[in-house]
Amino acid sequence: MLNPERIDFVRRRLGLTKIGLASSLEVDRKVLQRFETGKADLPAACVRRLCDLSGYPVEFFYKGTPVYPNPAGVSFRSLKSLTAASRDAAMAAGALAFEFDDWISAKYDLPIHSLVQVESSTPAAAALYLRAKWGIGERPIGNMINLLEAHGVRVFSLAEETRHLDAYSLWRDDKPYIFLNTLKTTERSRMDAAHELGHLVMHRHTGSSHINAEDEAQAFASAFMMPPNDLKAEFQWVRSLNELIEKKRRWGVSVAALNYAVHKIGRISDWNYRGNYMALAKAGRENEPNPMPPETSQVWTKILTDLWRQGITLSRVAKLLSVPEKELNDLLFGIASAVGGKSAPGALRVV
Ligand SMILES: [Zn+2]
Repeated sequence: MLNPERIDFVRRRLGLTKIGLASSLEVDRKVLQRFETGKADLPAACVRRLCDLSGYPVEFFYKGTPVYPNPAGVSFRSLKSLTAASRDAAMAAGALAFEFDDWISAKYDLPIHSLVQVESSTPAAAALYLRAKWGIGERPIGNMINLLEAHGVRVFSLAEETRHLDAYSLWRDDKPYIFLNTLKTTERSRMDAAHELGHLVMHRHTGSSHINAEDEAQAFASAFMMPPNDLKAEFQWVRSLNELIEKKRRWGVSVAALNYAVHKIGRISDWNYRGNYMALAKAGRENEPNPMPPETSQVWTKILTDLWRQGITLSRVAKLLSVPEKELNDLLFGIASAVGGKSAPGALRVV
Protein backbone atom coordinates (compact mmCIF):
# COMPACT_ATOMS: atom_id res chain seq x y z
CA MET A 1 0.00 0.00 0.00
CA LEU A 2 1.24 3.47 -0.88
CA ASN A 3 1.71 5.48 2.29
CA PRO A 4 0.10 8.96 2.07
CA GLU A 5 2.59 10.13 4.72
CA ARG A 6 5.46 9.32 2.36
CA ILE A 7 3.81 11.31 -0.44
CA ASP A 8 3.48 14.16 2.02
CA PHE A 9 7.15 13.78 2.94
CA VAL A 10 8.20 14.28 -0.68
CA ARG A 11 5.83 17.24 -0.97
CA ARG A 12 7.73 18.82 1.93
CA ARG A 13 11.11 18.05 0.39
CA LEU A 14 9.95 19.70 -2.82
CA GLY A 15 8.84 22.74 -0.85
CA LEU A 16 5.31 22.53 -2.26
CA THR A 17 1.91 23.27 -0.77
CA LYS A 18 -0.78 20.61 -1.16
CA ILE A 19 -2.33 22.62 -3.97
CA GLY A 20 1.10 23.07 -5.52
CA LEU A 21 1.71 19.32 -5.42
CA ALA A 22 -1.61 18.56 -7.09
CA SER A 23 -0.85 21.03 -9.84
CA SER A 24 2.69 19.64 -10.32
CA LEU A 25 1.18 16.17 -10.64
CA GLU A 26 -1.44 17.55 -13.02
CA VAL A 27 -4.33 16.19 -10.99
CA ASP A 28 -7.21 17.81 -9.19
CA ARG A 29 -6.61 18.48 -5.48
CA LYS A 30 -9.60 16.19 -4.78
CA VAL A 31 -7.73 13.22 -6.28
CA LEU A 32 -5.04 13.66 -3.64
CA GLN A 33 -7.61 14.26 -0.90
CA ARG A 34 -9.44 11.02 -1.71
CA PHE A 35 -6.11 9.19 -1.58
CA GLU A 36 -5.11 10.83 1.72
CA THR A 37 -8.40 9.82 3.34
CA GLY A 38 -8.10 6.25 2.06
CA LYS A 39 -11.10 6.55 -0.26
CA ALA A 40 -9.22 5.88 -3.50
CA ASP A 41 -5.83 4.83 -4.83
CA LEU A 42 -3.48 7.25 -6.44
CA PRO A 43 -3.51 6.85 -10.26
CA ALA A 44 -0.35 5.07 -11.47
CA ALA A 45 0.52 7.95 -13.81
CA CYS A 46 0.43 10.26 -10.83
CA VAL A 47 2.90 8.09 -8.89
CA ARG A 48 5.23 7.95 -11.89
CA ARG A 49 5.11 11.69 -12.21
CA LEU A 50 5.90 12.10 -8.51
CA CYS A 51 8.94 9.82 -8.90
CA ASP A 52 10.17 11.79 -11.92
CA LEU A 53 9.59 15.08 -10.21
CA SER A 54 11.33 14.18 -6.96
CA GLY A 55 13.92 11.60 -7.93
CA TYR A 56 12.52 9.33 -5.20
CA PRO A 57 12.05 5.70 -6.28
CA VAL A 58 8.57 4.20 -6.06
CA GLU A 59 9.65 1.88 -3.19
CA PHE A 60 10.02 4.93 -0.98
CA PHE A 61 6.26 5.49 -1.01
CA TYR A 62 5.61 2.06 0.47
CA LYS A 63 7.78 2.61 3.55
CA GLY A 64 6.40 3.24 7.03
CA THR A 65 5.40 6.63 8.34
CA PRO A 66 8.40 8.97 8.61
CA VAL A 67 9.50 10.35 11.97
CA TYR A 68 10.10 14.09 11.82
CA PRO A 69 12.25 16.10 14.19
CA ASN A 70 10.07 17.26 17.05
CA PRO A 71 9.48 20.96 16.35
CA ALA A 72 9.22 21.75 20.07
CA GLY A 73 12.82 20.66 20.53
CA VAL A 74 14.10 22.44 17.47
CA SER A 75 15.36 25.96 17.38
CA PHE A 76 15.50 28.06 14.26
CA ARG A 77 17.46 31.24 14.61
CA SER A 78 15.90 33.16 11.76
CA LEU A 79 12.49 31.61 12.14
CA LYS A 80 10.73 34.83 11.28
CA SER A 81 12.37 35.16 7.89
CA LEU A 82 12.15 31.45 7.16
CA THR A 83 9.12 30.43 5.13
CA ALA A 84 6.97 27.50 6.26
CA ALA A 85 7.94 25.64 3.08
CA SER A 86 11.68 25.99 3.77
CA ARG A 87 11.17 24.95 7.38
CA ASP A 88 9.16 21.87 6.36
CA ALA A 89 11.78 20.92 3.76
CA ALA A 90 14.56 21.20 6.36
CA MET A 91 12.57 19.10 8.85
CA ALA A 92 11.96 16.44 6.22
CA ALA A 93 15.72 16.39 5.59
CA GLY A 94 16.07 15.71 9.32
CA ALA A 95 13.63 12.78 9.07
CA LEU A 96 15.77 11.36 6.29
CA ALA A 97 18.90 11.76 8.41
CA PHE A 98 17.17 9.72 11.16
CA GLU A 99 16.56 6.86 8.70
CA PHE A 100 20.19 6.94 7.59
CA ASP A 101 21.40 7.21 11.19
CA ASP A 102 19.27 4.25 12.30
CA TRP A 103 20.62 2.14 9.45
CA ILE A 104 24.22 3.07 10.32
CA SER A 105 23.66 2.59 14.06
CA ALA A 106 22.57 -0.98 13.47
CA LYS A 107 25.98 -1.66 11.89
CA TYR A 108 28.41 0.59 13.75
CA ASP A 109 28.94 1.64 17.34
CA LEU A 110 29.11 5.41 17.27
CA PRO A 111 30.40 7.32 20.30
CA ILE A 112 27.89 7.78 23.14
CA HIS A 113 27.46 11.48 23.82
CA SER A 114 29.39 13.23 26.57
CA LEU A 115 27.32 16.39 26.77
CA VAL A 116 26.38 17.67 30.20
CA GLN A 117 23.26 19.64 31.05
CA VAL A 118 24.18 23.09 32.33
CA GLU A 119 20.95 24.89 33.01
CA SER A 120 21.48 27.12 35.99
CA SER A 121 24.55 29.22 35.23
CA THR A 122 25.27 32.05 32.81
CA PRO A 123 25.81 30.99 29.17
CA ALA A 124 29.50 31.97 29.27
CA ALA A 125 30.04 29.94 32.47
CA ALA A 126 28.21 27.00 30.88
CA ALA A 127 30.52 27.18 27.85
CA LEU A 128 33.64 27.18 30.03
CA TYR A 129 32.24 24.40 32.20
CA LEU A 130 31.66 22.18 29.17
CA ARG A 131 35.16 22.98 27.87
CA ALA A 132 36.61 21.95 31.23
CA LYS A 133 34.57 18.72 31.20
CA TRP A 134 35.84 17.96 27.71
CA GLY A 135 39.42 18.66 28.76
CA ILE A 136 40.03 21.44 26.26
CA GLY A 137 40.42 24.23 28.81
CA GLU A 138 40.65 27.56 27.01
CA ARG A 139 42.48 26.37 23.93
CA PRO A 140 41.20 27.36 20.45
CA ILE A 141 39.12 24.75 18.63
CA GLY A 142 40.77 23.41 15.49
CA ASN A 143 37.89 21.55 13.90
CA MET A 144 34.46 22.15 15.38
CA ILE A 145 32.63 19.33 13.60
CA ASN A 146 35.24 16.79 14.67
CA LEU A 147 35.09 18.01 18.26
CA LEU A 148 31.31 17.58 18.31
CA GLU A 149 31.51 14.15 16.71
CA ALA A 150 34.17 13.02 19.18
CA HIS A 151 31.67 13.86 21.92
CA GLY A 152 28.89 11.88 20.33
CA VAL A 153 26.94 14.58 18.48
CA ARG A 154 25.54 13.47 15.12
CA VAL A 155 26.35 16.27 12.70
CA PHE A 156 24.59 16.49 9.35
CA SER A 157 24.66 19.11 6.63
CA LEU A 158 21.70 20.85 5.05
CA ALA A 159 22.05 21.90 1.45
CA GLU A 160 18.75 23.75 1.48
CA GLU A 161 18.35 26.58 -0.97
CA THR A 162 17.84 29.17 1.71
CA ARG A 163 20.22 31.42 3.54
CA HIS A 164 17.58 32.14 6.16
CA LEU A 165 18.14 28.76 7.74
CA ASP A 166 21.29 28.73 9.86
CA ALA A 167 21.16 25.44 11.65
CA TYR A 168 19.02 23.41 14.00
CA SER A 169 19.56 20.95 16.78
CA LEU A 170 17.57 18.50 18.84
CA TRP A 171 17.66 15.56 21.16
CA ARG A 172 16.25 12.33 19.81
CA ASP A 173 16.02 9.64 22.45
CA ASP A 174 19.36 10.26 24.15
CA LYS A 175 21.18 11.31 21.00
CA PRO A 176 22.10 14.92 20.23
CA TYR A 177 21.81 16.05 16.60
CA ILE A 178 23.05 19.19 14.85
CA PHE A 179 22.13 20.14 11.29
CA LEU A 180 24.28 22.81 9.63
CA ASN A 181 23.60 24.89 6.55
CA THR A 182 26.53 24.33 4.21
CA LEU A 183 25.82 27.41 2.10
CA LYS A 184 27.41 29.57 4.76
CA THR A 185 31.05 30.47 5.34
CA THR A 186 33.08 28.06 7.48
CA GLU A 187 33.44 30.69 10.20
CA ARG A 188 29.71 31.24 10.47
CA SER A 189 29.01 27.54 10.31
CA ARG A 190 31.40 26.89 13.22
CA MET A 191 29.67 29.60 15.24
CA ASP A 192 26.28 28.09 14.33
CA ALA A 193 27.50 24.71 15.56
CA ALA A 194 28.58 26.26 18.87
CA HIS A 195 25.22 28.06 19.09
CA GLU A 196 23.37 24.77 18.63
CA LEU A 197 25.65 23.11 21.17
CA GLY A 198 24.50 25.82 23.57
CA HIS A 199 20.86 24.87 22.99
CA LEU A 200 21.67 21.20 23.49
CA VAL A 201 23.36 21.71 26.85
CA MET A 202 21.28 24.59 28.22
CA HIS A 203 17.78 24.06 26.85
CA ARG A 204 17.18 20.34 26.71
CA HIS A 205 14.50 20.46 29.38
CA THR A 206 13.20 24.00 29.07
CA GLY A 207 12.99 24.01 25.26
CA SER A 208 14.48 26.75 23.16
CA SER A 209 11.41 28.80 22.43
CA HIS A 210 11.57 30.98 25.55
CA ILE A 211 12.37 34.61 25.09
CA ASN A 212 16.06 34.54 26.14
CA ALA A 213 17.00 31.26 24.48
CA GLU A 214 18.51 32.78 21.36
CA ASP A 215 20.60 35.35 23.25
CA GLU A 216 21.76 32.63 25.64
CA ALA A 217 22.80 30.32 22.84
CA GLN A 218 24.67 33.17 21.13
CA ALA A 219 26.50 34.14 24.33
CA PHE A 220 27.38 30.47 24.89
CA ALA A 221 28.72 30.22 21.32
CA SER A 222 30.88 33.33 21.65
CA ALA A 223 32.46 32.15 24.92
CA PHE A 224 32.85 28.60 23.62
CA MET A 225 34.68 29.70 20.45
CA MET A 226 36.59 32.59 22.07
CA PRO A 227 37.18 32.04 25.80
CA PRO A 228 37.51 35.56 27.26
CA ASN A 229 40.82 34.82 29.06
CA ASP A 230 42.41 33.61 25.86
CA LEU A 231 41.19 36.74 24.04
CA LYS A 232 42.59 38.96 26.77
CA ALA A 233 45.95 37.22 26.57
CA GLU A 234 46.10 37.73 22.80
CA PHE A 235 44.85 41.32 22.60
CA GLN A 236 46.11 44.12 24.82
CA TRP A 237 44.43 46.82 22.75
CA VAL A 238 43.04 46.51 19.21
CA ARG A 239 43.95 49.44 16.96
CA SER A 240 43.08 48.26 13.49
CA LEU A 241 40.75 45.99 11.59
CA ASN A 242 43.81 44.29 10.10
CA GLU A 243 44.88 43.01 13.50
CA LEU A 244 41.53 41.24 13.80
CA ILE A 245 41.77 39.88 10.26
CA GLU A 246 45.25 38.48 10.91
CA LYS A 247 44.39 36.90 14.26
CA LYS A 248 40.87 35.55 13.57
CA ARG A 249 42.23 32.18 12.44
CA ARG A 250 43.36 31.39 15.96
CA TRP A 251 39.72 30.95 16.96
CA GLY A 252 38.27 30.19 13.53
CA VAL A 253 35.58 32.81 13.82
CA SER A 254 34.38 35.60 11.53
CA VAL A 255 36.11 38.96 11.89
CA ALA A 256 32.69 40.37 12.82
CA ALA A 257 32.35 37.90 15.71
CA LEU A 258 35.89 38.68 16.89
CA ASN A 259 35.25 42.42 16.68
CA TYR A 260 32.15 41.95 18.84
CA ALA A 261 34.00 39.79 21.38
CA VAL A 262 36.97 42.14 21.85
CA HIS A 263 34.54 45.01 22.32
CA LYS A 264 32.71 43.05 24.97
CA ILE A 265 35.89 42.56 26.99
CA GLY A 266 36.81 46.24 26.57
CA ARG A 267 39.89 45.85 24.39
CA ILE A 268 38.80 48.15 21.54
CA SER A 269 37.42 51.68 21.50
CA ASP A 270 33.72 52.17 20.76
CA TRP A 271 34.75 54.27 17.78
CA ASN A 272 36.93 51.55 16.21
CA TYR A 273 34.42 48.84 17.04
CA ARG A 274 31.68 50.70 15.19
CA GLY A 275 33.98 51.57 12.28
CA ASN A 276 34.96 47.89 11.90
CA TYR A 277 31.34 46.84 12.20
CA MET A 278 30.32 49.13 9.37
CA ALA A 279 33.25 48.21 7.14
CA LEU A 280 32.45 44.49 7.57
CA ALA A 281 28.73 45.02 7.02
CA LYS A 282 29.51 46.91 3.84
CA ALA A 283 31.70 44.07 2.53
CA GLY A 284 28.83 41.63 3.19
CA ARG A 285 28.58 38.56 5.40
CA GLU A 286 29.46 36.21 2.57
CA ASN A 287 32.79 37.97 1.93
CA GLU A 288 34.72 36.79 4.94
CA PRO A 289 38.29 38.18 5.01
CA ASN A 290 41.11 35.64 5.41
CA PRO A 291 38.62 32.75 4.99
CA MET A 292 39.06 29.25 6.38
CA PRO A 293 38.72 26.02 4.43
CA PRO A 294 35.43 24.13 4.97
CA GLU A 295 35.06 21.52 7.70
CA THR A 296 33.60 18.13 7.09
CA SER A 297 32.52 15.08 9.05
CA GLN A 298 35.15 12.58 10.09
CA VAL A 299 32.60 10.06 11.35
CA TRP A 300 30.65 9.90 8.09
CA THR A 301 33.87 9.87 6.05
CA LYS A 302 35.22 6.92 8.05
CA ILE A 303 31.97 5.01 7.83
CA LEU A 304 31.46 5.62 4.12
CA THR A 305 35.07 4.57 3.49
CA ASP A 306 34.58 1.40 5.49
CA LEU A 307 31.35 0.59 3.66
CA TRP A 308 33.06 1.32 0.34
CA ARG A 309 35.80 -1.18 1.19
CA GLN A 310 33.05 -3.75 1.60
CA GLY A 311 31.74 -2.84 -1.82
CA ILE A 312 28.85 -0.78 -0.47
CA THR A 313 28.81 2.63 -2.14
CA LEU A 314 26.58 5.48 -1.05
CA SER A 315 24.50 4.77 -4.09
CA ARG A 316 23.95 1.24 -2.74
CA VAL A 317 23.00 2.62 0.68
CA ALA A 318 20.56 4.97 -1.04
CA LYS A 319 18.99 2.02 -2.86
CA LEU A 320 18.66 0.05 0.38
CA LEU A 321 16.92 3.01 2.01
CA SER A 322 14.90 3.74 -1.17
CA VAL A 323 16.01 7.36 -1.35
CA PRO A 324 17.88 9.38 -3.99
CA GLU A 325 21.65 9.28 -3.52
CA LYS A 326 21.79 13.06 -3.81
CA GLU A 327 19.55 13.46 -0.77
CA LEU A 328 21.99 11.42 1.35
CA ASN A 329 25.06 13.08 -0.09
CA ASP A 330 23.59 16.50 0.74
CA LEU A 331 23.16 15.42 4.36
CA LEU A 332 26.71 14.02 4.50
CA PHE A 333 28.67 17.13 3.51
CA GLY A 334 28.91 15.87 -0.06
CA ILE A 335 31.70 13.51 0.97
CA ALA A 336 30.54 10.56 -1.13
CA SER A 337 32.54 11.83 -4.09
CA ALA A 338 35.66 12.01 -1.91
CA VAL A 339 35.20 8.43 -0.77
CA GLY A 340 36.52 6.27 -3.57
CA GLY A 341 34.42 7.88 -6.29
CA LYS A 342 31.31 6.33 -7.68
CA SER A 343 32.22 2.69 -8.12
CA ALA A 344 32.91 0.18 -5.39
CA PRO A 345 36.29 -1.56 -5.29
CA GLY A 346 34.56 -4.84 -6.06
CA ALA A 347 33.49 -3.38 -9.38
CA LEU A 348 37.08 -2.59 -10.40
CA ARG A 349 38.80 -4.91 -12.80
CA VAL A 350 42.57 -4.53 -12.86
CA VAL A 351 44.37 -6.43 -15.59
ZN1 LIG B 1 19.12 29.14 18.30
